[in-house]
Amino acid sequence: MLRPGGVWRNWGRSEQTTPAFRATPTSVDEVVAVIRAARDRGLTVKAVGASHSFTGIAATEGVLLDLGRLDGLLAVDVERGRVTLAAGTHLHQLPALLAPYGLALENMGDIDRQTIAGATSTGTHGTGARFRGLAAQLVAVTLVTADGSILRVSETENAELLPAVRLGLGSLGIVVEVTVQCVPAYLLRAVEHPEGFDEVLDAFEQRVSESDHFEFYWWPHTDRVMTRTNTRLPGDAELRPVGPVANWVEETLLQNRVLAVKSGLGRIAPALTPAVNRLATRVYGDRDFTDKSYEVFTSPRTVRFRESEYAIPREAVPQAVRDLRGLVERMGWRLSFPVEVRVAAGDENWMSTAYRRDSGYIAVHQYFREDHLPYFRAVDALLRSYDGRPHWGKIHFQEAEELASRYPRFGDFVSVRDRLDPDRVFANPYLERVLGA
Ligand SMILES: Cc1cc2nc3c(=O)[nH]c(=O)nc-3n(C[C@H](O)[C@H](O)[C@H](O)COP(=O)(O)OP(=O)(O)OC[C@H]3O[C@@H](n4cnc5c(N)ncnc54)[C@H](O)[C@@H]3O)c2cc1C
Repeated sequence: MLRPGGVWRNWGRSEQTTPAFRATPTSVDEVVAVIRAARDRGLTVKAVGASHSFTGIAATEGVLLDLGRLDGLLAVDVERGRVTLAAGTHLHQLPALLAPYGLALENMGDIDRQTIAGATSTGTHGTGARFRGLAAQLVAVTLVTADGSILRVSETENAELLPAVRLGLGSLGIVVEVTVQCVPAYLLRAVEHPEGFDEVLDAFEQRVSESDHFEFYWWPHTDRVMTRTNTRLPGDAELRPVGPVANWVEETLLQNRVLAVKSGLGRIAPALTPAVNRLATRVYGDRDFTDKSYEVFTSPRTVRFRESEYAIPREAVPQAVRDLRGLVERMGWRLSFPVEVRVAAGDENWMSTAYRRDSGYIAVHQYFREDHLPYFRAVDALLRSYDGRPHWGKIHFQEAEELASRYPRFGDFVSVRDRLDPDRVFANPYLERVLGA
């Protein structure tokens, strides 16, 4: 059951550990057995999804629990549009699993590589002023807790724990099943345009409130942004997908290969970066197409990078982005990756970055071979002044004491953790930093 741990690395290559053991359970009983075996040896246990978090939230020197073989659809409530999934199900498996029932996820982020448990445990979100993060779609969660018992949390069982376990940071137990509230399958019309920086920020509130899913990318060292406005359409609306060649040109060649070349160039000839970014704003975008929701929301990411992202009050976004631009200009960095700006509706999950706050998200990226620390630290300092709540899966520098002041239910969450995992079987250094010992 337990085999040698080998080396574990995350996607962004910002974290690496050598777990003592690795286990790939194929049943809930085996998860229970692994937790008991780890406890007997005095080891901690960490479930790992797709290792797509940039922080050390999934890192362990104890037992790495790979839930890749606990995947798939376990039950469907057709009437209520709810599906129960094994925790290790990847988001990219969902279209095929949900298609027979005409269902889809209400919203998605930029990629579909994550597992459902990993994505919801860190507060993964997409964009849309009326739409909440993925964890808000969970209506039931089943966990194996530190003593090896099964805890079912739903609207009718242990309901008071739902706002904690839906987004539990991997700290409350091993999630083995989740029930997701889906919506009828739908299409999205995507309109992508290059536009002016000031023009978009001046109209930001109107743009986000008038559209279903609005986001933009600002290319540092330019005064241009790429906007993307997605409009929801019924599932039987007319499909107008991007052709396979055009799609390859945009998503593979432009969004990934050009980025790879730009990033490499940025390292050897940083002085060229502003000119290359200006060029990028001319070649990207200006598309209008309609496709299935998941095809539009997500795209491949083949160039490795590191990311940091903060949720701030939505109304503060235009000023914060202007401040960020001022910071970039003052510091003289040469940045080849864009800044991404999104929004989400407030929700009720205690550790959600959008807890009871309609939020704007500002994300910064850096090529994985570059030193991201000076840029990310400065952005962290800037967005702290906007009461920025860092994405739990993206690099940040905040600690428990400060985070407690940003999350009104922080104390309640820690109490649940004390109750469910008093001996800190699911602890790791990251959780110690953000939640306390
Ligand atoms: C290229 C890229 C694009 C991204 N785009 C977005 C985006 O658009 N929006 C956004 O919000 N985020 C985004 N992210 C961040 C990503 O969604 C989160 O970091 C997410 O947690 C990754 O899911 P995972 O399955 O890889 O989880 P992991 O990183 O493997 O694990 C994350 C946490 O979940 C815990 N966990 C995993 N499975 C279980 C389980 N069964 N039980 C208990 N705990 C568990 C782990 O222990 C860990 O604490 C992106 C990341 C990358 C690399």
